[in-house]
Amino acid sequence: MNETSDKQKISTGQYSNAPNQSVFQGVLYTFHGGVHPEEHKKASSGRPIMPVFIPTEIIVSVQQHIGEAGRPCVAVGDHVDTGQIIAQADGYMSVAAHAPTSGTVTAIAPHPVPHPSGLPGLCIHIQPDGKNTWMARTPTDYHNTHPSTLRNLLRDMGVAGLGGAVFPTFIKLNPGKIKKVPTLLLNGGECEPWITCDDAIMREHAEGILQGAAVMRHLLQSNRVLVGIEDNKPEAIAAMSAATSQVDFPVEIVSIPTLYPSGGAKQMIKIITGKEVPSGGRSTDVGVAIFNVGTSLAVHRAINHGEPLISRVVTVTGNVGLPHNREVLIGTPINELLALAGGHPEPVTGSLMGGPMMGFELADTAAPVVKATNCILVKSGRLFPAPPPAMECIRCTRCADACPADLQPQELYWFSKSKHFDKAQQYSLFDCIECGCCSYVCPSHIPLVNYYRYAKSEISTLKSAERAANLARERFESRTARLERDQRERAERLAQKSAIKPTPDTDAAATIQAALARTQAQADEPKV
Ligand code: SF4
Ligand code: SF4
Repeated sequence: MNETSDKQKISTGQYSNAPNQSVFQGVLYTFHGGVHPEEHKKASSGRPIMPVFIPTEIIVSVQQHIGEAGRPCVAVGDHVDTGQIIAQADGYMSVAAHAPTSGTVTAIAPHPVPHPSGLPGLCIHIQPDGKNTWMARTPTDYHNTHPSTLRNLLRDMGVAGLGGAVFPTFIKLNPGKIKKVPTLLLNGGECEPWITCDDAIMREHAEGILQGAAVMRHLLQSNRVLVGIEDNKPEAIAAMSAATSQVDFPVEIVSIPTLYPSGGAKQMIKIITGKEVPSGGRSTDVGVAIFNVGTSLAVHRAINHGEPLISRVVTVTGNVGLPHNREVLIGTPINELLALAGGHPEPVTGSLMGGPMMGFELADTAAPVVKATNCILVKSGRLFPAPPPAMECIRCTRCADACPADLQPQELYWFSKSKHFDKAQQYSLFDCIECGCCSYVCPSHIPLVNYYRYAKSEISTLKSAERAANLARERFESRTARLERDQRERAERLAQKSAIKPTPDTDAAATIQAALARTQAQADEPKV
């Protein structure tokens, strides 16, 4: 379903009359494909963000971000203050995790975590004391702090991308060799149906979001700041536009047409700048750094208030009596969050973390809220009827028309299903953003994304096994080389010793050796 022709400019941008706001000078572009699923956003967007609550138990997963898990640095029985580091960043691609409230560590053990695999993960359990005693919070003067110190601070404050990818933010804020990234783009697209948490924070925390952008702009040396927001969020656009007068740099608020998945990073960049991020490349390759608006707010709180990332806004919606957005402590058991959602009008048929397009089924609602938890969507048979049985692919190519990454989903399906993973990679499997547009339009109801996830996971497993085998081989070869070198060096040392200072023993041995040789020579002489 190609909504508009690709590479076509679709309109000029929109902007408000706020005093400090620059006029958006560009035109808007469209991306290939995209779909218009029912939005269902009004259910939760009509209420203000509900306040945080302290649950009966806090369960903090040490793996909440892309990269290496955090390393627990507390022990069972320890008292912890709110905001205290309980798991340190471990490795380059890692961020810290913190106590979301004060209390006592009761266990460090596996627990269900929200993950598509349904497998448990290592968690730090805290029994809250109800006092919420904060550790010292120290704001940082970022203008007078070295960039690497600021980035390390963000790592230790646990800031990771809150748009779903949970990529460590401090890494994205390092421009590296290029020294500066000209354009900073804040992503307020929030195109996934049902989810309204970003809409809510843009309406209620617009200034904080832009203060976070000020820090990021400083680190990236960006000279242009843009905020992309879908035009189905007029209140957020108005609030963000008004907040531009509160910062001392120009910000362009860009209202973009509502089309799923315009909130995808590559799609947002294409819409607003017309630039295509190359296959396998990064947004900085086209001079753009893109961050979710929630991440920007987290950066503001970390730097300007000295508060680590211990809570986030979560949309609770679907089959609940009180659909809403709430500030939720990281580590809150999802079932305790659901208990505050006014019950379930219809029989529950499951719950998703995320939306219906990109979310995944929660295996256990005892799992805690993690940094990636943007939405808990409770299902009923009426809201989410079971899909009809999948049928054969009829090669209609509707999936290709809808694919925002301009892939051939039907080919990826065949290659994934038949385990021709090399071919799937040749067809750019890893450019697939798992948006679900192809499954959404498929008349044969094939759960295409499941096949791509399966193929990606198999390829990753094979690559890990290959890496492990290569590592083992390298270790073996290096050990063998070391043993041979040691042996050679020992022999050389012995030879040197012999040459320098012959001992009586060695003289005797040489005499015996010579006698033996003579005897052998006599024995070998022909007898006549
Ligand atoms: S996968 Fe579905 S949408 Fe794609 S070609 Fe086959 S039947 Fe059509
Ligand atoms: S899930 Fe992947 S293949 Fe399907 S439409 Fe989205 S990007 Fe394309």
